[in-house]
Amino acid sequence: MLEPAHAEAEVVVVGAGVAGLAVAGHLTGMGVRVLVLEAAGGIGGRMSTEKVDGFRLDRIGRLLSTSYPELRRTPGLDGLVLRPFSPGVLVHSEGRRYRAGEPAAPRRARGAFSAARALATAPRSPRGTRPPLGGPLDHARLGAALARLAATGPARLLARPELPAGRALSVRGLPARTLHGFVRPLLSALLCDPELTTSSRCADLALHAYAAGRLAVPEGGADTPPELLAAALPPGTVHTGVRVTAVSANSVTTAEHGRLPCRAVVLATGATAAAELLPGLHVPPFHPVTVVHHAAPEPPLTEPALLLDADRLGPVAHTTVISQVDPSRAPAGRTLVSSTVLGAPPSDRELRVHLAALYGTGTSGWETLAVHHDPHAVPAMPAPHDPCRPVRLLDGLYVCGDHRATSTVQGALHSARRAARAALTDLGLPSPATPPRARGMTVGEAA
Ligand SMILES: Cc1cc2nc3c(=O)[nH]c(=O)nc-3n(C[C@H](O)[C@H](O)[C@H](O)COP(=O)(O)OP(=O)(O)OC[C@H]3O[C@@H](n4cnc5c(N)ncnc54)[C@H](O)[C@@H]3O)c2cc1C
Repeated sequence: MLEPAHAEAEVVVVGAGVAGLAVAGHLTGMGVRVLVLEAAGGIGGRMSTEKVDGFRLDRIGRLLSTSYPELRRTPGLDGLVLRPFSPGVLVHSEGRRYRAGEPAAPRRARGAFSAARALATAPRSPRGTRPPLGGPLDHARLGAALARLAATGPARLLARPELPAGRALSVRGLPARTLHGFVRPLLSALLCDPELTTSSRCADLALHAYAAGRLAVPEGGADTPPELLAAALPPGTVHTGVRVTAVSANSVTTAEHGRLPCRAVVLATGATAAAELLPGLHVPPFHPVTVVHHAAPEPPLTEPALLLDADRLGPVAHTTVISQVDPSRAPAGRTLVSSTVLGAPPSDRELRVHLAALYGTGTSGWETLAVHHDPHAVPAMPAPHDPCRPVRLLDGLYVCGDHRATSTVQGALHSARRAARAALTDLGLPSPATPPRARGMTVGEAA
C-alpha cells in the first residue's frame, strides 16, 4: 500500500533493476524525495538469484569486471565484495585445456614494453612445426595486445572505426590462433554474442575492461548489487508489485494505485517495456541466454577459473565451478557448477556430454538444479551503436537502463548516473561530484 507521503514523491522511478535503484540512490543522495515502483514481486530485475536447498542460483551469466568504474562510484555499492576468477581464462580446444589472456598486472600495464620484450624472447617452435595453442609465444602475443588495450582509454577506443566485431577482428592482423583460440571465445562470453555481430567499439570496451581488471562475480549472488543499492535508500522508497501503465513528465499511472503526480519520471525498465510505455523508443534485438546450474559430487576443477570452449563443439559457451569462485553459492561441502549457453536451452544429454568433454570427467551423476532461459537477456549492440544514447527525453522525463548504454551492469549503472544528473539539472539542483575511485567495493580472495 502506498502511504500518502510516498505518493508525494518528487521523482518517480519506474523499475527496480540496478539502473532504477542506482538512479534513486543518486537522487535521494541530493535530498530528492523518490518513489521506485517495481512491477515484479521483488527487486533486481535481470539480476536475481534463486535460492534452492542452500544453493544460490543466478538467473544471469555472471561476468563482471573489477575494473567496471561504476561498481566503485555508485552510492550504495560500498559493501560490494567481488570474487575474482583466477587470472586469465581456461580455454578448451582440441581436447585439452590451456590458460590464456592473463591481463597485465597494473604495475606492468604501462609496459606494452615489457610484454613486447616477452614477445621478442619467447621461444619459437622449430621451423615447420605447429606449436600447441597456449604456448609461450601465444602468451607473449596476448600479453602484448592486452597491455596495449589496458593502457588505451575508452575515449580512444570509441574513436576507432566501427565494424561488426567479427569483421574488425579479422582485419586487425591478429594471428588466427590467437583469434580463434582466445579472442573470439572470450568476446562471445563477454558480449553474449556467439556470432560477434556486436559493434567493434563495444567489443573493444569489453576487452579493455577485461584487460584492465579481473573477471569476477558478486559475492553471494547476482542479486547482491541490487540488494545493496535498495538497502542504501531511505525506508519506504521502493514498492514492489506496482505496475506502471502510463507515464508523462509529471505523473505515472499504475494498475494498482491509479495516477500519482510528481515533478519528474525516470523510466528504468528494460527496452521492450520502456517502448510500450513510450512508443518510439529504440528497441534493439536481443541475445537469448540460458544459464544452467548443476550440483556435482565433487569439484570437476579445483581452480576458480572461467572455462571457455574455443571449438564450439557443444552448446556451452562458458562454464565454471562457481562454488570454487564464491563458496557462499553452495552449502558447505557441496559443489555448484554454473554454465552459460548463448541461445535456447539444449537437451539435457547434449549439455552433459559437452560438460563432460570440457571438464574431462563424467557428468551423469550431476544433479540439475535449475535451467534459466531469458530470450531478452542482453540487448544486442550491432554497429553502429551509440553507447551514450540520450537519457533526457523532455524536461521531467528521462530513460535509463542498459539499452541506453552498453548491455552490461556497468552500462546500466552509467546510464543511471547520466539520467540522475539530467533530472537534477532540470530540478535546479546541483549534481553530485563523481568520486574518482571508490572507497567501497572490495575484491575478495579467490577461493
Ligand atoms: C542471462 C543473462 C546474462 C547476462 N550476462 C551479463 C554479464 O555477464 N555481464 C554483465 O555486465 N551483464 C550481463 N547481463 C546484463 C545485465 O544483467 C543487465 O545489463 C542489467 O541487469 C540491466 O539492468 P537494468 O536495470 O537496466 O534492467 P532490468 O534488470 O531489466 O530492470 C528493469 C526492471 O523494470 C521492471 N519493470 C518493467 N516494466 C515495468 C512496469 N511497467 N512497471 C514497473 N516496473 C517495470 C522490471 O520488472 C525490472 O525489474 C546479463 C543478463 C542476462 C539476463
